[in-house]
Amino acid sequence: MKNYREQLIDGEMVVGHGREFTSVNPYTEEPWAVFTEADETDVDHAVAAAGRAFDAWRKTSGIERARLMNALADAIEHDIDHLAQVETNDNGKIIRENRNQILFAARNFRFYAGYIDKIAGDVKTMDSYTTFDFTVHEPIGVCALITAWNSPLQLLSNKLPPALAAGNTAVIKPSEYTSASTLELARLAIEVGFPPGVVNVITGAGKTGGLLTAHPGVHKISFTGGIETAKRIAAAAAANIVPCSLELGGKSANIIFEDAPYEKAIAGAIGGIFAAAGQSCVAGSRLLVHESLYERAVADIAERASKIVLGSPQDESTQMGPIAFRAHYDKILEHIAHAVEDGSRLVAGGNPSSLGGLFIQPTVFADVDNSSRLAQNEVFGPVLAIIPFRDEAEAIAIANDSQFGLAGGVWSKDITRALSVAKEIRSGIMYVNTYRASAAQAPSGGFKKSGYGRERGTEALHDYTVVKSTMVDLTDTVRDPFILGR
Ligand code: NAD
Repeated sequence: MKNYREQLIDGEMVVGHGREFTSVNPYTEEPWAVFTEADETDVDHAVAAAGRAFDAWRKTSGIERARLMNALADAIEHDIDHLAQVETNDNGKIIRENRNQILFAARNFRFYAGYIDKIAGDVKTMDSYTTFDFTVHEPIGVCALITAWNSPLQLLSNKLPPALAAGNTAVIKPSEYTSASTLELARLAIEVGFPPGVVNVITGAGKTGGLLTAHPGVHKISFTGGIETAKRIAAAAAANIVPCSLELGGKSANIIFEDAPYEKAIAGAIGGIFAAAGQSCVAGSRLLVHESLYERAVADIAERASKIVLGSPQDESTQMGPIAFRAHYDKILEHIAHAVEDGSRLVAGGNPSSLGGLFIQPTVFADVDNSSRLAQNEVFGPVLAIIPFRDEAEAIAIANDSQFGLAGGVWSKDITRALSVAKEIRSGIMYVNTYRASAAQAPSGGFKKSGYGRERGTEALHDYTVVKSTMVDLTDTVRDPFILGR
């Protein structure tokens, strides 16, 4: 069993004082690594260390902060095979996908390192000629960064680099299912020379997360995960009056029009739901197909889904690995049972795979009613709901009839149609003739119950800074002290 008992607090790897817990490799279903939970004392130490480090870090030159962030990106790239292996042991996602996502994480560190010396305020034109105002974007302080299990380092790289670039310090808590790669990142942060307390990593489950988000020494919370946890976190943020950003789930509509580039659209539909075994926040889990193509598309997708190669996530040729953990596997099978009960037409999969373990067959339901449980709830697994539509207006109405608003896709060669439909969909991320595209420059985040706040792009920097406005009087005039000044 790999020993991951040590957490990073104040520049040192120290064993947590809470209970021990293990991570189970979803492919073998054997525990492969052991961790310790951060208890109240550990959380206090980590938050206090981040608080002490904040003043020096915010005053450290941008050149030095960027140097450290780029050094961390170099270290991630250097250790890429090891890090990808560690994540695959933890969450069972195929090694190709994990390698690619972790390289993307390194890219995010470089992107924000490059932005440090471009963070700039404004000079405001005032009503009075002899006064002016300037703004600066200041760091907020200690940021609690909490991530989900599906893409640990990639999700963290949407939070930590902009937080550090803006001059904040961080206490990170990864998911209890996938803590190993974040602890590996902690080791690299020490190796490249981050000052003690700037980056802290504590491990544990909801209890540890609760202690962290309720801590009065935390000045900002950024969370990626599910709705029920998000409600608790938003309540904790409200109690301490700290800003909070929430990156939650989705039930994104991927819309194929009759003039779509057909082969590309079908490949996009398959990738949109079966990549990462559907355990992707932006998964195109509702596929809306124009009635003129409907039966052809249903048949093609069912055929392709049944040919997806399931197997060891370590194998480069595997296309879909196991589900990340048993409780989630059981929940996905429950969603499938509900879809059958609700009268959706099963056209592919629908059962545990003959490989056994935590493998589920790529599953496709056609003729799904958009008000059914399958169409309204996030499955976060390899289950596609196909829904026919007649025209643009109906496609838009179905897409928007959801509590979520994270992502969506439009496939059409008519650019006017594609962009006007994309414009009408109430989601934070839209793809046109592509799906699951991602880039450091492109902001991501949700509408509605998919959350608030933005990650990536320059937009993320706004979430990690506060604007300070400074007004200056250039005259020697003594003002009436009892009235609001100009
Ligand atoms: P989750 O809400 O169960 O857990 C997320 C994190 O919150 C974990 O680290 C967990 O330990 C912690 N946590 C649990 N209870 C807590 C509490 N009371 N206080 C503080 N922290 C607590 O979610 P999950 O199952 O890990 O992730 C799956 C969800 O994440 C899906 O809904 C998925 O769509 C979403 N997700 C969203 C994005 C995005 O960018 N929008 C990306 C990936 C995943």
